[in-house]
Amino acid sequence: MMEPDCYEQYPATTVIASNLLSVLIYGTGISILYRFGLIWVTGYVLFILLLEFRLLRGHCVDCYYYGKTCAFGKGRLSSLFFSGGRPEQFSRMTITWREILPDFLVFIIPVLAGILLLIHEFDWIILLLIIALILLGFLGNALVRGHLACRFCKQREIGCPSVQLFDKTKQ
Ligand code: SF4
Repeated sequence: MMEPDCYEQYPATTVIASNLLSVLIYGTGISILYRFGLIWVTGYVLFILLLEFRLLRGHCVDCYYYGKTCAFGKGRLSSLFFSGGRPEQFSRMTITWREILPDFLVFIIPVLAGILLLIHEFDWIILLLIIALILLGFLGNALVRGHLACRFCKQREIGCPSVQLFDKTKQ
């Protein structure tokens, strides 16, 4: 069967796979930070919620997939809580590495915390969790975006600041 150039609505399997990756990253991050205590886990969960809010409120409202099933299911989620924005805004936005840094911190913070634990006392479980987190954060994200999400995205054709940022880096 021929693959479509872009999805008008992404298949449920893509939404499940992309969210499963996030759940695995968050779960692994929580497992490492739990060794530091519940206060760290709470801070981490609040940080994740803040990032999700920033995405749903600040970006998804302007996206082509607002009210539709995007690769992450967030176009629909955003439309449940927020009014639509200005679609012409999305492609005009410029995203810098500084703005994107908090998204990387979701897995970088637990990795650094895990390294601190290892320095203090070696533990195979922590080492495996760190390796899993690095693989999920870099490889998992690249696979989901490259093969499932961005590859079939209508917003990419219209103009996506994230894709432009990564393309610039590759040049
Ligand atoms: S191209 Fe990728 S990052 Fe940009 S809106 Fe589409 S799925 Fe999101």
